[in-house]
Amino acid sequence: MVYQIAIDGFSSTGKSTIAKQIANTFNILYVDTGAMYRCVALYALEQTFVSDAHIDTDKIIEQLDRIDIDMQGSEVFLNGKNVSTKIRTLEVANVVSKVSTIKEVRAFLVSAQQKMGARKSVVMDGRDIGSVVFPEAQLKLFITAKPKVRALRRYEELQAKGDDVNFEDVLENLTSRDQMDSSRKESPLIECKDSVLIDNSNLNAEEQSSMINALIKQRLNFN
Ligand code: C5P
Repeated sequence: MVYQIAIDGFSSTGKSTIAKQIANTFNILYVDTGAMYRCVALYALEQTFVSDAHIDTDKIIEQLDRIDIDMQGSEVFLNGKNVSTKIRTLEVANVVSKVSTIKEVRAFLVSAQQKMGARKSVVMDGRDIGSVVFPEAQLKLFITAKPKVRALRRYEELQAKGDDVNFEDVLENLTSRDQMDSSRKESPLIECKDSVLIDNSNLNAEEQSSMINALIKQRLNFN
């Protein structure tokens, strides 16, 4: 049986950690769709089609067919170059939500995502997986946590990687991305009626994963 698990929610709620854990436990494909939007944003930054102050939407749309994204496990390749670290910088985070408001960018990536999940069971995390990419997913999770808890997690992650960031900038980036992602016209971040809501502000990783694993087994009739 081919099945899809959709994980949506706010920025830095640990969606990708949850998705990776599910992929390992149930031996299915994992796709981080945020990484795909980050690749388009990185490409646009490198071509100077986008900056903090401006965005050249037409140029980005025009060059979509020059963007090749290849996901291999947790490694991400943009036009053959490993960009796994580069796409996680604050520089990319600051423009990605702007780039992801573009309808044509979304159509381009959604179609690639649907192909990835058509023949193989998949767990995908993002913002529109349950609402647009796989509206028929067997299980939809909507993950949230308090903004300060999320900002601290992301801040510690970036610091550990040697990125010299400050906490207030990380918090500001998260809240403005949430705001842009939830209010955009094209496929905004919404909690689907049939999603299971998880607030993990006070959950540890173990509690969360055993809860989610039980949910999957029950939904998919695994014993
Ligand atoms: O998940 P991550 O934080 O890496 O996503 C980066 C950005 O990409 C989000 O803030 C959002 O603007 C965009 N995104 C999206 N739809 C998705 C995944 C990510 O619009 N399915």
